[in-house]
Amino acid sequence: HHWVYAFAAGAADGNAGMKNLLGGKGANLAEMSSLGLPVPPGFTITTEACVHYYKNSQTFPDGLEAEVAEALKRLEATTGKGFGSVDNPLLVSVRSGARASMPGMMDTVLNLGLNDATIDGLAKLTGDRRFALDCYRRFITMYSNVVLGVSHHGFEDILDDHKDRLGITIDTDLTAEDWTRVIADYKAKVKADLGHDFPQDPQDQLWGAVKAVFGSWMNDRAKFYRKMHDIPEDWGTAVNIQSMVFGNMGDTSATGVAFTRNPSNGDANLYGEFLLNAQGEDVVAGIRTPQALTKRAREEMGDRQPSMQEALPDVFAQFESTVDTLEKHYRDVQDVEFTVEQGKLFMLQTRNAKRTSKAALKIAVDMAREGLITPQEALMRIEPSSFDQLLHPMLDPKAERTIIAKGLPASPGAASGKIVFTADDAVRLAAAGEEVILVRDETSPEDIHGMHAARAIVTARGGMTSHAAVVARGMGRPCVSGAGELQIYTERGEFSARGQTFKYGDIVTLDGSTGEIYKGSIRMIEPEFSDDFHQIMTWADEFRTLKVLANAETPTDAHTAKGFGAEGIGLCRTEHMFFDDERITAVREMILADDEAGRRKALAKIQPMQKADFLELLSIMDGLPVTIRLLDPPLHEFLPHTPEDIKHVAEVTEVSEEKLYKRTKELSETNPMLGWRGCRLGITFPEIYESQLRALFEAACDLVKQGKSPKPDIMHPLVATREEMAKLTTMTHAIAREVIEASGVALEYKVGTMIELPRAALLADRLAETAEFFSFGTNDLTQTTYGISRDDSGRFLNPYIEAGIFDKDPFVTLDQDGVGALIKMAAEKGKATRPDIKLGICGEHGGDPASIEFCHKAGLNYVSCSPYRVPVARLAAAQAAI
Ligand code: ADP
Ligand code: MG
Ligand code: MG
Repeated sequence: HHWVYAFAAGAADGNAGMKNLLGGKGANLAEMSSLGLPVPPGFTITTEACVHYYKNSQTFPDGLEAEVAEALKRLEATTGKGFGSVDNPLLVSVRSGARASMPGMMDTVLNLGLNDATIDGLAKLTGDRRFALDCYRRFITMYSNVVLGVSHHGFEDILDDHKDRLGITIDTDLTAEDWTRVIADYKAKVKADLGHDFPQDPQDQLWGAVKAVFGSWMNDRAKFYRKMHDIPEDWGTAVNIQSMVFGNMGDTSATGVAFTRNPSNGDANLYGEFLLNAQGEDVVAGIRTPQALTKRAREEMGDRQPSMQEALPDVFAQFESTVDTLEKHYRDVQDVEFTVEQGKLFMLQTRNAKRTSKAALKIAVDMAREGLITPQEALMRIEPSSFDQLLHPMLDPKAERTIIAKGLPASPGAASGKIVFTADDAVRLAAAGEEVILVRDETSPEDIHGMHAARAIVTARGGMTSHAAVVARGMGRPCVSGAGELQIYTERGEFSARGQTFKYGDIVTLDGSTGEIYKGSIRMIEPEFSDDFHQIMTWADEFRTLKVLANAETPTDAHTAKGFGAEGIGLCRTEHMFFDDERITAVREMILADDEAGRRKALAKIQPMQKADFLELLSIMDGLPVTIRLLDPPLHEFLPHTPEDIKHVAEVTEVSEEKLYKRTKELSETNPMLGWRGCRLGITFPEIYESQLRALFEAACDLVKQGKSPKPDIMHPLVATREEMAKLTTMTHAIAREVIEASGVALEYKVGTMIELPRAALLADRLAETAEFFSFGTNDLTQTTYGISRDDSGRFLNPYIEAGIFDKDPFVTLDQDGVGALIKMAAEKGKATRPDIKLGICGEHGGDPASIEFCHKAGLNYVSCSPYRVPVARLAAAQAAI
């Protein structure tokens, strides 16, 4: 059993498959080393050591120290340097690296091993004292901040004072003598703050840094990130200790980050940023504006600084072929970090790149077309829920707009909202139900909660790989970064650009696909579907076996659903046909009538309108099944409740207010959801269902006469017993026969029920004697199985989830253990009685990927969900089948 795994050019103890043990960074450093790529040698302390550390009141496991000492010795041998050696010092970086990448969440220390003595060695060895001092001042700042807990602001102030005194603005203009003075002040500050000197012993430095990396696993940023991304707390982080290479050794040295394809729009072009003569995180920190990697990108951006391709052509060519190797090896887009030391390339990190939904789609389709992956793999690489972002509205190109400023198109999508200037304000306003846009000079990990709360993010500084850009893309928030025109006054809650000023709470709109920011809110339109989207959907349809239907009542919804590829309607709730403005009066008349004759008279008024509705719906869905659920809600919902309403209704219906009050009272129930609703209404007042059925069958027969093929499925709600089902089926057939005979055409239809009561599931074999299909109404089935009211659960569900009693909200993600067991049982029992019974689901869960996978496994025939979720369901159904 080892706590330490080494890697060096051409060989490594670990590999890419060992992410759980070595963390993502360590596993990939090992893999790149084995591939023979230029990786500075080093070693990884396992995540198990970190887990041990936290399980044992923050102590290191036995044997760790010895293994680290051994690995250091090997590293000294490989590099020909000595850790702490004054003549030829080995310097290392200490880097965190969890299983799942948590960008910017953890802290890295560079140039570790430097002290007042080894700095002379480094200076002599490189012949560049200024460079050695640059490394040392960086090390003191980072180490003091990350390990010793001294805020970096103090160091910045010291440096600024020196620059002011010297009349210098750029760090690289400071001479060796200048840096010597700065460093003396830095060390004095550490001593003043901590009461002891900056640690000089490299061993102390090393173990301090290891502890700090372990410690960073539990810092607030890391905790928040884990919570947001469902990363377990007990995974721990690995620590990578790696020999340093130097991007700050003059103008043939550089450091940079790159993506093998554009992570924002998916274009198959190498994409990234770099800085000459710089180290570590200078690129992402937004201290200097980074330069483009390729000539093409530089030209596109209209940048005057040379690209890496132009400034360092040879090493760029080597870099291009290296990342190409990596992309082919990993068969996915890589996000890499690299450094060039005096013309020599070093790879410091690679991982599968985070990408926007738009890019994920394009990349998956492109790679499948290139033959790098299979269509099945392409399907598996797209997060079904990411379609939410893709299918979302964009700015209407025809809408008028006034531009405020333009920045970089860092994360696509459009959003409008009130501007706020701090993360805390974003959270506060969002909690009050406002849509907010967070406007910052630049963001840092401390702003994460605000970025999460905001609809979109704007920054004045930073590039496409700045913190704001990376995090926004990961969260699916639109983002415009580096909008340099913005003058932001956070304290005053104001920004100005192009001569205009905007205040806290003013509304702006931004388009993260173009980088533009506009005044006020702008009309949005539905997006157009790309070829890539159609391709993925075509592949999804090839592999899935579940059919996808939609829950739709109105013609608009039905058209939308069809446009998204719905193969019919799985749930048409007919109550809306009763709520309509002109119909409600007749409905109320029906409810208030004293006898059946009175009710029939009122229903006769609504019947033609219902027929017209059915005609429209059935002809939109011509040839596809349309599942009509007969009236479900309790009657009292249709009656007026407030005194004004009652007065108004009394006038229109010419029924006295007293009678209205009386009837409302008569119909009121203690538990309406368990009361006189669903088929209980249809059985006690059969004329209601009869009128619905007549309207439906007449509409269907009329369409048959027109040469169409309507396929109505009649669904009876809230059935619990065989007798209910039998009675309702008899009624349905009787009306059908009557209407069909009168019209003289042939019509096929099915009669079935929703399964939404545990008893219905338990005795489904009996229901299937007459029911030809079951549709699991999992909203009510969840409510009745748990005995938890859908409408009242809000108050205690969150505490339950926080306490770990519930994993997820069962109304969002199907409770597979409980409700799922009922579904499986009902499906089996239904098939036992009627082998060809049609089985589907029509609750909210019908659009939830995890629930869809369950439905696939349970052997259902279809899922039905809201129109916008149809593409999500098609993809999820394909993933379930692959
Ligand atoms: P993060 O996980 O936040 O990206 P890293 O551990 O990758 O942190 O370190 C950040 C940066 O520090 C790297 O991108 C690289 O530029 C620099 N760095 C890390 N290790 C070395 C090293 N051995 N030599 C030179 N630079 C390094
Ligand atoms: Mg870092
Ligand atoms: Mg990194």
